[in-house]
Amino acid sequence: MLTKYKYRVHSEALSYSNNKNMLMITRRNLLSSLVAAAGASTLPAGSVFAGQNTGQNLTGSSETSSKNRRIPWRNWSGSQTCFPQARKAPGTLGELQDIIASAKGCVRPVGSGHSFTSLVPTEDTILSVSRMSGVVSHDASNNTAVIQAGTRLGDIGGPLAEVGQAMINMPDIDEQTLAGALGTATHGTGAGIGCLPTFVEGIQLVTATGDVLECDRYQNADIFNAARVNLGALGVVTQVKLQNMPKYRLKREISWHSIEDILENAEALADANRNYEFYYIPFSGMGFHDIQNITEDPAAKSEKLDQNDGAETLKDLRDWLSWSPKLRQLILSTYMKTIDKEVTVANSWQNYASERNVRFNEMEYHLPRENGIQAFKEIRAVVEKNFSEVFFPFEVRFIQSDDIWMSPFYQRETMSIAVHRFFEEDYKPLFKAVEPIMKKYNGRPHWGKINTLTADQLQPHYQHWNAFKSIRQQLDPTGKFLNPYLKTLFNVA
Ligand SMILES: Cc1cc2nc3c(=O)[nH]c(=O)nc-3n(C[C@H](O)[C@H](O)[C@H](O)COP(=O)(O)OP(=O)(O)OC[C@H]3O[C@@H](n4cnc5c(N)ncnc54)[C@H](O)[C@@H]3O)c2cc1C
Repeated sequence: MLTKYKYRVHSEALSYSNNKNMLMITRRNLLSSLVAAAGASTLPAGSVFAGQNTGQNLTGSSETSSKNRRIPWRNWSGSQTCFPQARKAPGTLGELQDIIASAKGCVRPVGSGHSFTSLVPTEDTILSVSRMSGVVSHDASNNTAVIQAGTRLGDIGGPLAEVGQAMINMPDIDEQTLAGALGTATHGTGAGIGCLPTFVEGIQLVTATGDVLECDRYQNADIFNAARVNLGALGVVTQVKLQNMPKYRLKREISWHSIEDILENAEALADANRNYEFYYIPFSGMGFHDIQNITEDPAAKSEKLDQNDGAETLKDLRDWLSWSPKLRQLILSTYMKTIDKEVTVANSWQNYASERNVRFNEMEYHLPRENGIQAFKEIRAVVEKNFSEVFFPFEVRFIQSDDIWMSPFYQRETMSIAVHRFFEEDYKPLFKAVEPIMKKYNGRPHWGKINTLTADQLQPHYQHWNAFKSIRQQLDPTGKFLNPYLKTLFNVA
């Protein structure tokens, strides 16, 4: 029984591919499954499955301390955890106002928990507006829509399409809530397109007193400047007015090339295409261009590489071939050269996001665009010299500059470079080696991704840092929304 259960969980964690090009991967799946089935019989005592035994002793007191009844919170990768006194999920604005007005201690708004930094953890109250979800209204004359802040990005596309609209861009997953995405300046790729907060035309939030505050470019303009990228430090965002565009279809083209070829063409491709990014597979010498443009073509789907499967395979190859980096490179590059171009045409909101079921921790820095390629080369060299364990692709994206106070893209055309480490493995040595290169090239860290920068190191990157701090102080003088990380960031005792 136990064996069966473990096997089911393991196989669900793997995504099977029918792609002819993924024969190697399919064999790998078979092997993984056999390993999983065999491993189940050697399940260690105290593993996560140990509690499945139904022979528990149910006699005795049902009293447990309230601390024992608390539910631990953790982020997507498991790198951030806390044990909050309370978890609140109001269903209405009124309930939310009451919770905030009467809260004792710190209140931290949470979205989908997809940030890697310490923005959310608190021992006091974690508050989610996930029940406040959906499109509230739209204006067909200017393609705007008011959306509840707890709406998952993946749940926005469908309802918007029904009224003829679509979001201008999206990140590479769509699990984030709208408020969470704004909190950390979440972005997609596109040299001519800003991060998601640049699409925001108005924000409603509940401040520390429980009052509702509306802001836009004309009304409470400074608060609007601060609130578009807010780290969850100004209050709880409840509604967002988004500038959208008429709904559209995207043609996505993925093609594999040598990394030398990619680096030579990346800048030109970023300028020539609406959404361009590239990925590099470490220790392979190969990567792929990922290009999207608006099209009138009918929906079409070529056989698609499953990126989760790909990550599992890269991990297995790393494990099997760690004794020979040259053989690893040969096998990877030989295989990747055989992969056909992949073309998909779909509604925009269905084409941006991928599934990321293989969990990782991530560092992403936003660099001045002109420094990006050189920084990439140095990061690649450091990783391939010292970190043969790394198998996740590097991701390189382009983002347009903006005018938002706490945006890492403030007044700067940007190339973003991301490196990842499998969630079970210690990410610190890798990120410690990569971060100095990001810093040397004047990078600004993604607010939601792992970095070690202190307030003193961040402040020079943000000319409106003090203005943001005074808006924060004005809206939340007692620091109700500050957890230990934010207190350090904003020098609050
Ligand atoms: C697999 C994966 C893929 C990712 N891909 C991308 C990508 O393509 N591009 C990119 O830029 N980033 C990406 N990220 C990072 C992610 O987009 C950001 O960390 C984002 O902020 C997460 O949103 P969330 O809803 O999970 O918010 P959380 O991580 O829960 O919270 C983020 C911040 O928003 C605040 N917040 C949440 N809700 C509210 C609210 N109602 N009011 C006020 N503040 C609030 C929180 O307090 C916190 O400060 C990715 C992360 C993962 C794990």
